[in-house]
Amino acid sequence: MPSLLGHAAAGLALNAAFAGHQAPRRSWALAAACALAPDLDWFTAFLHLPYGHVLTHRGATHSLAAAALIASAAMLLGLRSHLRSRRLWLCLFAAAFSHGLLDACTLGGVGVAAFLPFSGERYVCVWQPIRVSPIPLTGRLWVRFLGALWTEAVWIGLPAILLVTAARAARWVRPVPDHA
Ligand SMILES: [Zn+2]
Repeated sequence: MPSLLGHAAAGLALNAAFAGHQAPRRSWALAAACALAPDLDWFTAFLHLPYGHVLTHRGATHSLAAAALIASAAMLLGLRSHLRSRRLWLCLFAAAFSHGLLDACTLGGVGVAAFLPFSGERYVCVWQPIRVSPIPLTGRLWVRFLGALWTEAVWIGLPAILLVTAARAARWVRPVPDHA
């Protein structure tokens, strides 16, 4: 998986691009939390479930359905006064599902069960430019971590900057009124 920094950056970028200027400040924290939440499945490692089980890493919590649940929970917990905002919900949903997409673009590890509960098939992207971030960070693993961080800077950081810049620019560009 990308590091927590990479996932959080994706969530923050989606919030910056799509939440809108009327979104409350806590939407930033919620977007980052939604982007990180799917990895709560690491705790199932203690259950010694068989390989490929829906509750193992990159299983149920990384699906589209889980992204919808995570976004809904975040709205209920942190944005109760904005429950009718489809825009904010979609933003949090995108942040949550960005996690699975980035995991699928990471070289190594199991595929992402994006379509649970309808299909248990695990998917990876045909192109996986992001390196796996090692855990725990001990000894020489720091070198690998920094290498992985570099791939995240290129393949998550740069697209995030472009996305936010394009979204902000689109808000400033208005069609010229036709007075003819
Ligand atoms: Zn993950």
